[in-house]
Amino acid sequence: MLARIKPKAWLVLLAVAVVVSIVPLSSLAQPNQARVLVALRNVKAPYPQLIRTAAASFYRIRITIINQCGRDYLGKLDEALRPVDYVTSKAGVANKSWHKAGRAIDVKQTYPGVVIVKDLKQKGLQRVLLRCAKQDASQGQWYGPKRIQQRGKQGYYLDVTALFLNEGWNRIPPQGKVSEWWHYEYRHGARNWPEAMRQLYSVRVLRRLYPGSF
Ligand SMILES: [Zn+2]
Repeated sequence: MLARIKPKAWLVLLAVAVVVSIVPLSSLAQPNQARVLVALRNVKAPYPQLIRTAAASFYRIRITIINQCGRDYLGKLDEALRPVDYVTSKAGVANKSWHKAGRAIDVKQTYPGVVIVKDLKQKGLQRVLLRCAKQDASQGQWYGPKRIQQRGKQGYYLDVTALFLNEGWNRIPPQGKVSEWWHYEYRHGARNWPEAMRQLYSVRVLRRLYPGSF
């Protein structure tokens, strides 16, 4: 009986199952968090959580990539949520980051078959192309040597950046000398970073951690 369900239907069921789980984060215990943050099921990342709306969008993109390219590119992330009190002096890492608001992901910087090309429409930004599992013209689009900008093998690729942009995610310009091509953030429902942070944390906590910003 179950075997009769088509593979695509399984993916839809998976997507529904993963988006609905709520995670209380004891390590970041704030009253608002359990209501807003959800776990990204079957995603490997240091803190695999996002706010509910971002998670739903993330899963739509993840499923589209699986359907159109045959690869679970978003099953492992370099980062998703970042703890509210995370501080670093690493070059290019913003202290006031949308990761802390549960609204940003970093795709894996090392992933087989990924080619980074210049975005010819937006100077300074780049696009992520993923080489599709099947190279028989049934998946992705053809990228010849010119279109792939001599940065990878020609073949059939999916423009992952286009999927994120269609869902309303933003890229960010280079941070210092670091290009941050791997970073996408979801700003829907928050006019700015302080507002996004207030949806998760109390003003008291934020004032202590970010004096002058709240
Ligand atoms: Zn990032």
